[in-house]
Amino acid sequence: MVRQPGGTSPDRPVRVRYAPSPTGYPHVGNIRTAMFNWLFARHHRGTFIVRIEDTDVERKVEGAVEDVLESLRWLGLEWDEGPEVGGRYGPYFQSQRLHYYRPVVEQLTSDGYAYPCYCSHERLEAMKAEQVRRGQPPGYDRRCRNLSQEERSRFEAEGIRPVIRFKTPLTGRTEFRDLIRGKVVFDNSTLDDFVLLKSDGYPTYHLANVVDDHLMEVSHVLRADEWLASTPRHILLYQAVGYESPQFAHLPMILGPDRSKLSKRHGATSLLEFRDEGYLPEAMLNFLALLGWSLDDRTEVLSREELVEHFSLERISKTAAIFNIDKLRWMNGLYLRKLDIDDLTERALPFFERDLPSSVRRPIDRSYVRAVVALEQERAKTLAELPQLGEFFFMEELDYPVDLLLQKLNREKASQALTTVSQKLGALGPFDHGSLEATLRPLASDLSLTTKELFSLLRVAVTGRTAAPPLFQTMEVLGKEACLRRIEAAIRLLRG
Ligand code: GLU
Repeated sequence: MVRQPGGTSPDRPVRVRYAPSPTGYPHVGNIRTAMFNWLFARHHRGTFIVRIEDTDVERKVEGAVEDVLESLRWLGLEWDEGPEVGGRYGPYFQSQRLHYYRPVVEQLTSDGYAYPCYCSHERLEAMKAEQVRRGQPPGYDRRCRNLSQEERSRFEAEGIRPVIRFKTPLTGRTEFRDLIRGKVVFDNSTLDDFVLLKSDGYPTYHLANVVDDHLMEVSHVLRADEWLASTPRHILLYQAVGYESPQFAHLPMILGPDRSKLSKRHGATSLLEFRDEGYLPEAMLNFLALLGWSLDDRTEVLSREELVEHFSLERISKTAAIFNIDKLRWMNGLYLRKLDIDDLTERALPFFERDLPSSVRRPIDRSYVRAVVALEQERAKTLAELPQLGEFFFMEELDYPVDLLLQKLNREKASQALTTVSQKLGALGPFDHGSLEATLRPLASDLSLTTKELFSLLRVAVTGRTAAPPLFQTMEVLGKEACLRRIEAAIRLLRG
């Protein structure tokens, strides 16, 4: 059997892996697992490995691997070994490592730790149905565990291709020390004889996972809570093949605000959806780190460097984490406000290109976007909100109901006021917000309006909205020509 150096002596270098199965698109929970592995590796100056567990051929989803890698890249979780970058322990796709698994199974079989099982799919299904009917826990009934050599030969002669099952001890207990949960104990009698090798020659998750963690010299397995029940199986397998097992840490679940398992019902859950909704990777990183880990009971905002510096398994909570979208929005707004304006413009441009109505001419002017986002930076919580909030800056014509202009004014008075404003603006030289304010503020009393009335009217005339960034700065960005055109259009609307 291939016995390569393995085991987890305390002084072993830290080598951790994120081992996604490409059976779906990665959601925040998967990526949180990847991230905790990455943080652990970086904190200990160890190695972060990405290994693709693609042995479930039937459930493979096209594009899922690319999605995983893109999610990691977007968050800046660079990997030291794995797809694209390679490494000494490759290949990093399990489907390309089949030659490692079979000899292990052969050895286990000849050592009496595994056996071929010839039960048909139909028999197993019927058995399962019967167990369910009787309220018994599901599991293989071990019919093939003690077949004689003649019985085996007969099945072979019939051309039945067996699966290979692990001969789980019938009694005793399997325990381990989980680095987060402490001591975990399973009665072996609750574990069935799980499959190691499928009849198509592909390994199951259990086998491939154990063999590869050993061959890749993985020191710590940090994975989601849902794998906890697999761990006693893995430990029995490590013992049977004579590998030293890595240390285990099972990460707390992520729940939605209603305390049910986080799912589509709670909104976006795939990581790249958050990217497409305009969340910043640095905010996402910070937010995800706090889903199950904390520095102390107060600190919310931590940079990538601070997370690496402080990350520890001791501060991972044993209880489930709650995914709170309002907190993510808050945090994203915070990071968004901290960006310098050129950086923000750069990141926002693709959202303007994508989301502004098709009537707006492309490509969108960068320096104009820069001026627009500078005005919106304080208000927006996501990048995608920037084109929403700022759409009016780009439209040829605004579309709004006349009532929005009127508020408490009558049509006559409103159109008179706008006519006066228009004349003043037409005569105005420099069209900056200082000059605009100096010109327009005194006008209110001449028109026997309050400044609030005049400015609200003007705001609607130039933006089509009642809430917009500061009026004079908005007008400065729009420019004289556009402002005059819009005021004329408002007057026409009032005169209807
Ligand atoms: N392939 C498993 C998954 O999709 C990996 C579990 C583990 O880390 O052992 O999550």
